[in-house]
Amino acid sequence: MTVYINGSKYEIEAVIKLFFPLLRFDFREEEPKYVPDSITAVCTDKLRVYANVCDREISREEELPADAADNEITLCRLLFTVLSELTGVTPAWGCLTGIRPVKKINTLAAQGMTRDEMYEYLHRKYLVSEKKFGVMYDTAQGQSHALDTLSPRSFSLYISIPFCPSRCSYCSFVSHSVTSKGARDLIPQYTDMLCRELRELGNIIADTDMYCDTVYIGGGTPTAIDAPLLSRIMDTAAQYIDLSRVREYTVEAGRPDTITREKLSAIKRHATRISINPQTLSDKVLSAIGRIHSTEQFYKAFALARDMGFDCINTDTIAGLPADDKDGFRRTIDGLIELAPENITVHTLTVKRSARLFEGTQRSDLTADNDLSAMVDYAADALSAAHYQPYYLYRQKNTIGNLENVGYSRPGYEGLYNIYIMEEAQNILSCGAGASTKLIDPASGKITRFFNYKYPYEYIGRYDKMTAYKAQLRDMLGV
Ligand code: SF4
Repeated sequence: MTVYINGSKYEIEAVIKLFFPLLRFDFREEEPKYVPDSITAVCTDKLRVYANVCDREISREEELPADAADNEITLCRLLFTVLSELTGVTPAWGCLTGIRPVKKINTLAAQGMTRDEMYEYLHRKYLVSEKKFGVMYDTAQGQSHALDTLSPRSFSLYISIPFCPSRCSYCSFVSHSVTSKGARDLIPQYTDMLCRELRELGNIIADTDMYCDTVYIGGGTPTAIDAPLLSRIMDTAAQYIDLSRVREYTVEAGRPDTITREKLSAIKRHATRISINPQTLSDKVLSAIGRIHSTEQFYKAFALARDMGFDCINTDTIAGLPADDKDGFRRTIDGLIELAPENITVHTLTVKRSARLFEGTQRSDLTADNDLSAMVDYAADALSAAHYQPYYLYRQKNTIGNLENVGYSRPGYEGLYNIYIMEEAQNILSCGAGASTKLIDPASGKITRFFNYKYPYEYIGRYDKMTAYKAQLRDMLGV
């Protein structure tokens, strides 16, 4: 599709992608042609939008706003309205972009706005629906205690184990499937290097007044590796980093097919929270997304974890998976509520071109926007009725319908690490392939990021080069 513009393409592209997530666009800064399969969004003496899509065309114009700084958002609203009329779809977040909408609520609250004033402002400026405003506002309430109890000298420790038992078709992460011998052979060496990095990080931290507040072991699927290796990683972290003040320690076990009593025993010695992720409670959908486990395995893994005394369990779900529909998704949410985990996270499927699922996929192959929106709304209403509260919220680029990912929790079980990383409220010190360390300057709020190599083979082979930044880390932590 050709798009004629005469300003920044970033926001215009974001609005068009709300309606056409899989299309590629050819942006041109030239006289518009007003032809089929084209969109024009320009700001001249007036704001002008023309769209010829879905075999229909609409042309609209509007006076320039009084303040030129509002030109771009006003043009986006006009374009949004036109595309909504042409497609029959009205994305509920309006043209609000950005992955951390809750930050907006916190900023408006700091300006002294009431709830009603915030809604009025966000609806008028971005066309945010009342429902989505409610999710933003409730999430801000749900996470306020965690943010209020945060010390600037604390940090979260992230440990990456980027291996999985097989690759899900929608996955775009760098995680390696252990079904390949090459990946499997890397695991012992990877464990050695990860333990070395934990030891070196521990030595740096020991000379500061910073302390570890939360630990998160993620991936991939950390339980894709054998219990003795997982034990070794967790023991090494405990040996070199003082974990005595840790309030939350999560292991994202993830895939039920990797969970065994032996691994849960290893985890239980250190962790307080575990994630067991069904994604869906339909075997048909699991098979459509290339997960090699069944719902029965999920139920067994969950029961085993409960039996072994895990009293804070998260379960992840995804709305919009292939072969799923509104009824199927409703059954997943209802089934999880019945199990009563402390946290239920509801993601929306994101279209990533690097994922196998989206090779050759057409928009019509994916769940329709309005159905997807109904699924996400059902989850919000059902979870609220079951006394779960949203506590963290983020959005990703290219999510169908521009919908959100929300973590819900039973009161008192909010996942601290999720809140802190999403609101960029705390230093994150990370070890392992694909991990990134984030340091927040307490005075300016500026965030400095350090990235480890993405792939395990690079992490192992170029370890010294990769950890060269640790000297800078020492300086920044005042060691
Ligand atoms: S479990 Fe997660 S990281 Fe692993 S392949 Fe599936 S989506 Fe990717």
